[in-house]
Amino acid sequence: MNPTAVIAIHGGAGTILRTLMESDAEQRYHASLNDILATGQSVLAAGGSALDAVSEAVRLLEDNPLFNAGRGAVFTADGTHELDASIMDGSTLEAGAICCVKRVRNPILVARRVLEASEHVMFTGAGAEAFAVAQGFEPVDPSYFHTDARYKQWLLARGQQRVMLDHDGATLTDGDAEPTPHEPIDPNRKFGTVGAVALDQHGHVAAATSTGGVTNKQVGRVGDAPLIGAGCYADDATCAVSTTGSGEMFMRMVAAYDVAAQMAYRGVSLEEAAADVVMKRLPRINGRGGLIAVDALGNVTLPFNTEGMYRGFARVGEAPVTAIYR
Ligand code: ASP
Repeated sequence: MNPTAVIAIHGGAGTILRTLMESDAEQRYHASLNDILATGQSVLAAGGSALDAVSEAVRLLEDNPLFNAGRGAVFTADGTHELDASIMDGSTLEAGAICCVKRVRNPILVARRVLEASEHVMFTGAGAEAFAVAQGFEPVDPSYFHTDARYKQWLLARGQQRVMLDHDGATLTDGDAEPTPHEPIDPNRKFGTVGAVALDQHGHVAAATSTGGVTNKQVGRVGDAPLIGAGCYADDATCAVSTTGSGEMFMRMVAAYDVAAQMAYRGVSLEEAAADVVMKRLPRINGRGGLIAVDALGNVTLPFNTEGMYRGFARVGEAPVTAIYR
């Protein structure tokens, strides 16, 4: 008998603003996660593929300004936006990715098109945008990505950059600046990638990841999110993984692939492999964040080493489960 199809999503990990734990914002995050899970669930319930379910879930996360991907993406040091995304099909090991794009409304849909229509796996910058246009995606004006909330965060980060340099390692909220009072997870100490992983009724898994990167990042900087193996990985033989966190450390640990590799080579469970990567290996190099993963048996794990991670999962036929804090 096939295991029950399931989808899991994340909307970034980070430090919780404990004083705001009861705020309305918390409800808005739960409601958004819940709605997006319900949509992914209905794709799977109708017999849709894991690839379709993760594409659709991440597209919705990109369109939702609460999350740092697509609309709502963070600002670079130059006050612009540069977006990254990747997707992988566990049944074929086909993958697609784009990075450093400024005019693509839904990077995940273009990454999917790379998977389907190109002999290559990854396009960057102008080449990625040209590929998108050639494939019929209408470019958006860069102002589409501007949101006031992210703009305020950027101004804060820019100012605090001096504090960070002066005090070597001080966090962005040290000093006089007030955190933006409308999100349960401190937006100034939050990793904001979004992602989805799914198992479909046919026993196939897929993963998708999309991000605006980190606030005030240097122009041209690319993190783990669009890198197959670091921020995204899927193989029916092991699992599907999407990560969020300090991208440089996830790249150095080849984090997403390491979960799959540990299952394959050490023979450990999904949960054990994911916990090893997030709770042991990443902290060794100060890697902060988390991941979501499913395997072909329908096991789901959502570990993180920060105080919170916007997350949830939904099995076909059961109510979605969403969570923010530990
Ligand atoms: N991992 C992403 C990056 O480094 C950031 C994030 O998860 O928020 O670009």
